[in-house]
Amino acid sequence: MNGKSSKPASPSLPGGLSVRDAQACILGKTAPLGAEDIALERALGRVLAADVRADRDLPPHDISAMDGYAVCAADTADAPARLKIVDDIRAGDTPRVTLQRGQCARIMTGAPVPAGADTVVRVEDTRPGPDDAVDILIPVRAATDIRRRAENMRRGEIVLAAGTGIGPGTVGALATAKQATVAVHRQPRVAILSSGNELEALREPFDPGKIPDANTYALMAQVQAQGVEPDLLGIARDDPAELSGFLERGLGYDILLVSGGASVGVHDHVRPTLAALGVAMHFWRVEMRPGHPVAFGTRGRCFVFCLPGNPVSSMVCFEQFVLPALRALAGHRRLFRRTLPARLTHAVESRPGRIEFMRVTLARDASGIYEAASAGSQSSGDMLSMARADGLLIVPSASKGLAAGETARVQLLETGAYQDEAELGDEPCSQKDVHRASLHDTIGP
Ligand code: AMP
Ligand code: MG
Repeated sequence: MNGKSSKPASPSLPGGLSVRDAQACILGKTAPLGAEDIALERALGRVLAADVRADRDLPPHDISAMDGYAVCAADTADAPARLKIVDDIRAGDTPRVTLQRGQCARIMTGAPVPAGADTVVRVEDTRPGPDDAVDILIPVRAATDIRRRAENMRRGEIVLAAGTGIGPGTVGALATAKQATVAVHRQPRVAILSSGNELEALREPFDPGKIPDANTYALMAQVQAQGVEPDLLGIARDDPAELSGFLERGLGYDILLVSGGASVGVHDHVRPTLAALGVAMHFWRVEMRPGHPVAFGTRGRCFVFCLPGNPVSSMVCFEQFVLPALRALAGHRRLFRRTLPARLTHAVESRPGRIEFMRVTLARDASGIYEAASAGSQSSGDMLSMARADGLLIVPSASKGLAAGETARVQLLETGAYQDEAELGDEPCSQKDVHRASLHDTIGP
């Protein structure tokens, strides 16, 4: 292995890709990982690997939706009407009596409707009568406040399809279908490595000549936000032999994230060292800002992302490339961050040729439409503006800049909301979009 002979990259390596092409290159190589069985208690955030069928009808009988009286609707036609109470049915009971005309049964929410009754009158529409009687105050139509047998699920039917992402509602539905154990896609195992002689580890003492290793932790958190606990490999120095040892270890994972050392400096050894370890590199450099010197390769089933050292660049590259790959491996169908249109509060300058991701904060204006404002310095080393940002505003690559008041697309950060397609600002934002966003999106003050 010769770590010193790699600049520029091999001529066959595609470079200067668009974000969209780079995403397509990565996602063309991903497929959901195999299935594993886990306890329902651990299933949140995972993706179903098999269809789930109902094991029974639910509700198991026609049941009351209210506390009240099971009656025959015809008996209430000339309300007020006095009916004799002949039974008292609670949830879980089996009705004993078939109602005759002029009779009713006290019934609780969830209790089975007795034979002879065809509707339910709510307690609020009744008044206690003398002895065992009740006065029904209003006429009720047949089939009021009755939930029909199997209206929620029918035995044998598929209630949740393979590929469903498991949220709290899904966990509830799985419990309803009595799935104590659930078949889900395996989650990718992720390793994170930082590289650079200048880096000071989080728990190392302060050294005035060094800079703190931020990337290990920012990337860790981005992975954790996807429900995956990564392994932190530490910091490799800019030395091919040392790097090689770290990288070989990382290549045992499903995803290896390396930050730093992948640019054109004479001490950037990451890409040649990976090549020497048998990693096939598929692209290097994407026409984006920040994040230009990003590279992607594979060895066997391991996906290797060489992320730029600058902390914001590495986070932005994670958002565009690692996140969709990670979600695809975990079996998700929605791979991309949710975007929404927002109106710029100020003008933005841009050099055409690269798509730009600008850190912005979002707020709603008086009419409920989102307004985006710069979150501060757009330097790729400024983690603080990343900490403030609600999203990344997309300045399309052809744009020379955007005027104040113009609408642009914003990728939301860390909201847990995803969408089906990558939207990268190359389609116009319609007025309809703006209104839809203001009606349905819930973030912002
Ligand atoms: P490189 O990609 O190695 O040329 O690094 C580009 C810039 O990012 C340099 O200023 C590095 O000091 C900085 N950098 C690299 N790795 C990290 C890291 N793990 N945490 C914070 N800054 C980093
Ligand atoms: Mg470096």
